[in-house]
Amino acid sequence: MLEKVLIANRGEIALRIQRACRELGIKTVAVHSVADKEAKYVKLADESVCIGPAPSAQSYLHIPAVISAAEVTDATAIHPGYGFLSENADFAERVENSGFVFIGPRPETIRLMGDKVSAKDAMKASGVPCVPGSDGALPDDDDEVIRIAKKVGYPIILKAAGGGGGRGMRVVHTEAALLSAASLTKTEAQSFFGNPMIYMEKFLENPRHIEIQVLADEHGNAIFLGERDCSMQRRHQKVLEEAPAPGLDSKLRDKIGERCAEACRKIGYRGAGTFEFLYENGEFFFIEMNTRIQVEHPVTEMITGVDLVQEQLRIAGGEKLRYTQKQIQYRGHAIECRINAEDPFTFVPSPGQITQYHVPGGPGIRVDSHVYHNYLVPPHYDSMIGKLIAYGDTREQAIARMRTALSEMVVDGIKTNIPLHQNLMHDGAFLQGGSSIHYLEHKLAEMKKNS
Ligand code: ADP
Repeated sequence: MLEKVLIANRGEIALRIQRACRELGIKTVAVHSVADKEAKYVKLADESVCIGPAPSAQSYLHIPAVISAAEVTDATAIHPGYGFLSENADFAERVENSGFVFIGPRPETIRLMGDKVSAKDAMKASGVPCVPGSDGALPDDDDEVIRIAKKVGYPIILKAAGGGGGRGMRVVHTEAALLSAASLTKTEAQSFFGNPMIYMEKFLENPRHIEIQVLADEHGNAIFLGERDCSMQRRHQKVLEEAPAPGLDSKLRDKIGERCAEACRKIGYRGAGTFEFLYENGEFFFIEMNTRIQVEHPVTEMITGVDLVQEQLRIAGGEKLRYTQKQIQYRGHAIECRINAEDPFTFVPSPGQITQYHVPGGPGIRVDSHVYHNYLVPPHYDSMIGKLIAYGDTREQAIARMRTALSEMVVDGIKTNIPLHQNLMHDGAFLQGGSSIHYLEHKLAEMKKNS
């Protein structure tokens, strides 16, 4: 087992990882920026190191500072969390070359999956169905691009090979708009991700976003832990997630899940990971793989009883998977609301001091959050301040518990998106389940028109 883990992240996930370590008897090192020095999880860690000023480029993204912190504290392993350096293959490589265990896949796997073009190629080769589109990156030849688009069929979506976070994507409806859109997307891809390569996919008009959680060890074993429905999105960013996906046939789920597990065995995957799919008319289409723990992992934990972060730690320590596929059983339903410090309807960030804080509780309620009474939400980072998770025997019960929990939750002094979640918990389409990735945008546009 690992002895001492440095947590190269902040906020709720830093606390989540710290708790997992503590339960397993692993010592923890918190690294933090100047802006996070008062955070409670920093004080709760066995040791802490300030790695730089508030801007993440000079702290949480500053590789030499993170590695030095691991050196001075004699950490044995580094957990990258999500975001920041979690999918940076060079970082993983530096961590391993400096003699630490990287809690995640091998650097070459991160590199393979971090480039969406090579990821799709690898998935096709492993028998995972992908969104139809260009064979690899788009060529420079304009006529060729026009020809490919015609073959794929409009509307199409142009995507940056190195993209992430919902950026570097552009939908094109007509041939007339194609070439200028391609050149714009290329420029953006270069400036956001340092890689001008773009590719083309058929733009699916009404898909759901359904993803499969996997765990794999370094001894060639891999399992899947069901699916999550993350279709409630705004600007390609997830707002709430649930497991299982309403109305999805469990046989179909098992079939695609097994394909994912098999792909993990083929590419020598290690650790926790997620295969993201668009799902339309009963078919799954792979879009990308996340080679890290995800924000929405708790809903899977609630319905399977598996602590995914602890399994990450065990796998990184060289253990064999503790579960066979048969041992993964699903029970009940779980929903997660991402609680953001932002205006619920304009989405303008709302950092500042939390003057009153009260978390809900009761059966089936879980709150993953690092904030507390008088906590100062810094303006420098992502606006998510926590996650409210509700579990029930049925989806109806989970929704009922979520409604109660949202009504009990108090976060004063800043604005939060709790009113949006309250609205969604009474929304007809959400209650029915199975709405598409475009639903929330349409709903928000309607609300704006009527206000
Ligand atoms: P990122 O890595 O930036 O999150 P993804 O490839 O995962 O990018 O796509 C993010 C979201 O963009 C998806 O969940 C979906 O809402 C939308 N999207 C991506 N590809 C397509 C497509 N081919 N058709 C329709 N929507 C898409």
